[in-house]
Amino acid sequence: QSAKTADQGKVLRVGSETTFAPFEFQDEKTKDYIGFDMDLIKAVGKQMGMEAQVQSMGFDGLIPALEAGNIDVAISGMTITDERAKKVNFSKPYYKSGLSMVVKADNNTLKSFKDLEGKRIAVQIGTTGASEAKKIKDVKVREFNNAPEAFIELSSGGVDAVVNDLPVNEYYIAQAGGKDAKIVGEPLNSEEYGIAVAKKNTELTDKINKAMDELKKNGEYEKIYVKWFGK
Ligand code: GLN
Repeated sequence: QSAKTADQGKVLRVGSETTFAPFEFQDEKTKDYIGFDMDLIKAVGKQMGMEAQVQSMGFDGLIPALEAGNIDVAISGMTITDERAKKVNFSKPYYKSGLSMVVKADNNTLKSFKDLEGKRIAVQIGTTGASEAKKIKDVKVREFNNAPEAFIELSSGGVDAVVNDLPVNEYYIAQAGGKDAKIVGEPLNSEEYGIAVAKKNTELTDKINKAMDELKKNGEYEKIYVKWFGK
């Protein structure tokens, strides 16, 4: 199968942690990776005359995979941070996000981030949510491989709150699995997602930025945005 795709054009090797709906997740029926990021990187690839092929991996493995040259880009709801920008290049921002907190629906004591002092918090390993949660006084932070595992821990009562990206929390709450949970308080901060590229691959970063400019101009970005976020 890979030989066949190679014949169809140049392959863009994409790394992503694919349990982060609505940005990247697996279609239950087709098993395809779908979501906002998946549509965006396919469109960016197409614009560059390349076919995006997605490899699923742990979030904390994405930057090492770029550094090792095992993937060309990472798109994974990844926040552009100074620390990460020391290791990889980022495209222009493509989505405005921020961290929010989720508690059990029947919890009436935790209302904002300042109420998390001394509490038990579940986060995804290697994320901005993990580093922000660790800054809270006297907290016990439990790190999970992905956001769904953190949510399971909340619903089973193992933690008091989940700290995670707002749009992912909103999507989770809107789904059947999130019926016993709620988002409380204002978002902690504002963050922006970017596509990560290996430092040495500056040419690819430029091409991606040009492709994104084109997708914004021709309305394709808007179409993808509306498809997943509806506004
Ligand atoms: N935006 C967060 C970060 O970059 C979480 C990303 C994710 O879990 N996929 O750390």
